[in-house]
Amino acid sequence: MIKKILIANRGEIACRVIKTARKLGISTVAVYSDADANALHVTMADEAVHIGPAPSKDSYLKADKILKVAQTLSADAVHPGYGFLSENADFARACADNNITFIGPGPDAIAAMGSKSAAKHIMEEAGVPLVPGYHGDDQSVETLRQHADNMGYPVLLKAAAGGGGKGMRQVWKAEEFDSALQAAKREAMASFSDDVMLIEKYLTQPRHVEIQVFCDTHGNGVYLFERDCSVQRRHQKIIEEAPAPGMSESIRQQMGEAAIKAAQAINYVGAGTVEFLLDGEDFYFMEMNTRLQVEHPVTEKITGEDLVDWQIQVANGQPLPKAQHELQLHGHAFEARLYAEDPENGFLPATGKLTLLQPPAESKHVRVDTGVVQGDEVSVYYDPMIAKLIVWDENRDRALQRLLAALRDYHVAGVTTNLEFLYNVAASEPFQKAELLTTFVEKHESLLL
Ligand code: ADP
Repeated sequence: MIKKILIANRGEIACRVIKTARKLGISTVAVYSDADANALHVTMADEAVHIGPAPSKDSYLKADKILKVAQTLSADAVHPGYGFLSENADFARACADNNITFIGPGPDAIAAMGSKSAAKHIMEEAGVPLVPGYHGDDQSVETLRQHADNMGYPVLLKAAAGGGGKGMRQVWKAEEFDSALQAAKREAMASFSDDVMLIEKYLTQPRHVEIQVFCDTHGNGVYLFERDCSVQRRHQKIIEEAPAPGMSESIRQQMGEAAIKAAQAINYVGAGTVEFLLDGEDFYFMEMNTRLQVEHPVTEKITGEDLVDWQIQVANGQPLPKAQHELQLHGHAFEARLYAEDPENGFLPATGKLTLLQPPAESKHVRVDTGVVQGDEVSVYYDPMIAKLIVWDENRDRALQRLLAALRDYHVAGVTTNLEFLYNVAASEPFQKAELLTTFVEKHESLLL
């Protein structure tokens, strides 16, 4: 049984994991960089070890160093959070080789989902629906162009190794194909040192709906319903919610079962998210994220489950705490991501000292997940997310009122944030009417800024 967990992360997710570990009587080890010496996750953990300079590549991405700390302090497990080493198959393998439990899926499952084209081959075989497209090995310009022409425009070029919306290009007509391909390949090479491309039919009005799955080492798999993450800007999520508005029981069940099929096709263990595009009643596999997601709290609010607790139980080799028929969806939850960024200046990340940081009061309706306190510095080194504001109520309308009230009660000074932008999104008529499409922000930009 796990007695001590090293958290190979920082910020809100490190704090989030520590909270559950504490609840379970498990002791915690934090790691930190120069920039984080006084960070909240360091003060919350039972022990903390400095691992290097501020840049991630010299600290939070230093797999060897982090593993060494785990060994030295006799941590029997590592929780990777999200980002950093969380989807690094080599790190997961190194943990296992050193008898340290990696709280996540096995290295093979991580590797299988690491390439969008390899993942699609696996899902195709497992019978999970895919967006029509090409994900073959022949990467010649002629072949790619031929496939795009046959599919019909618009198409979407995607880097097989991609993530964070990088290496992606829409192509609206045949004449633009070659130059778009070049640009996408260039970006993919610069970001991932790999310019293998896949092509998908570009869906013009889809929703991004993802399914939370959980599998244990005894062959059990369940889905904890869906999250709608359609409200995005440049493929970055802004406000997520659960359940997805207007979802029929039948589609929910079909998507849930497809997601479990996807997970079981790679012998998945632990928490995972299967992302789909939903177009009317048709849904298509996009990718699987082999970690806990940023937006997991909305799922926790509508199911009443603690997903980090589940992760730890599964990592201990215990069966899943609940079977599918024991899981119930109750009420509605939103998560808004509070960022240090400037909406009036192209959403450029902002830095500075949080001279005032006053979140709304927490209750059964309001939860704030954060890794900073008033007086902390938002630096250039890491993701500029300040906090996640999560609200819950009996139905969407009530939850939305909670969200608006909580956003009004959030006070930040010293650093420019997207607080007002979040409020404008939540207060907008299309959002109130749940007209959720991935093109939402683009379409309503004038209303939101
Ligand atoms: P990344 O891994 O870079 O985040 P994804 O494949 O997850 O890329 O896609 C990110 C977003 O791009 C999706 O949430 C969706 O908004 C949009 N997208 C992806 N594929 C398509 C498609 N075939 N048609 C329309 N939009 C798409």
